[in-house]
Amino acid sequence: MSAFVGNYADELIKNAKYIATPGKGILAADESTGTIGKRLASISVENIESNRQALRELLFTAPNALSYLSGVILFEETLYQKTSDGKRFVEVLQENNVIPGIKVDKGTTTTQGLDSLGARCQKYYKAGARFAKWRAVLKIGLTEPSELSIQQNAQGLARCTIICQENGLVPIVEPEVLTDGSHDIKKCAAVTETVLAAVYKALNDQHVLLEGTLLKPNMVTPGFDSPKVTPEVIAEYTVAALRRTVPPAVPGIVFLSGGQSEEEATVNLNAMNKLEVLKLWTLSFSFGRALQQSTLKTWAGKKENVGKAQEVFLGRCKANSEATLGKYTGGGVLENWLLKVCM
Ligand code: 13P
Repeated sequence: MSAFVGNYADELIKNAKYIATPGKGILAADESTGTIGKRLASISVENIESNRQALRELLFTAPNALSYLSGVILFEETLYQKTSDGKRFVEVLQENNVIPGIKVDKGTTTTQGLDSLGARCQKYYKAGARFAKWRAVLKIGLTEPSELSIQQNAQGLARCTIICQENGLVPIVEPEVLTDGSHDIKKCAAVTETVLAAVYKALNDQHVLLEGTLLKPNMVTPGFDSPKVTPEVIAEYTVAALRRTVPPAVPGIVFLSGGQSEEEATVNLNAMNKLEVLKLWTLSFSFGRALQQSTLKTWAGKKENVGKAQEVFLGRCKANSEATLGKYTGGGVLENWLLKVCM
């Protein structure tokens, strides 16, 4: 039995299914003012509203790029921003069949942001948002994540999910197991499975309408300080963890990139979609850094670089779209050069 989501049930199911359209994915452009500041600092650009607006305008108006996207996650400031021609970003996205979404967590402390969430969701719905992202973060360590943090994060995600659905926003449930550390892939797989199992138990206990949700997990990989493994191994472990824990009622799983290079994230996603096992959900992307890194470097905050940067962004959108179909065959010469520069 699902929670009372009133007249929104059909809309939630329709929008979740649309976001999970094979061949399309999500651009996570929802960096908070602090986080975008770090990205801008990496190209020596000042963290002021006009520069944040310019970066987002570059992304959202890149010719043809939106055809590979079904959703864009925005930070609150961006939800109300306009292009330099005065058109709301939300309208630009809607006109291109891209659903605007909103980041609703207020940092990674378990319950921060839940108190005012209902009222904020209503405001965001009015402004055009139709989905929302709530990120919870878990670390792998000798004694981490603790049972307490797994349970608290699962409960927080489930509460947020219900509140979003009651207010017409498709919740993207994001329990991120961080890559920091020297653990091997088996450890990451075990933790990811435990975390996802707890999350879906909590969602079921709260009677969430699973058909109107999406999952945004980490890929199962070795820790950053461990030797790398092939995309095929990552694909096997990741898809196994998901098959064991995510109900087929969930229409789509959209991965975060979590600090992987652009090319790594794309080839890993591609390998998962090539894997010949039964997968009952779409496997796609909701990348932040892995969609923006080379674009940011190419732009460098200069007007004269906007066109070139938009081409680079288009290249990454297309590559990841192909990866959702298991059809990515590698970047061109220019892209490979850029990827090397950005790694
Ligand atoms: P990354 O793809 O850069 O990890 O960002 C995705 C995201 O939205 C993290 O919450």
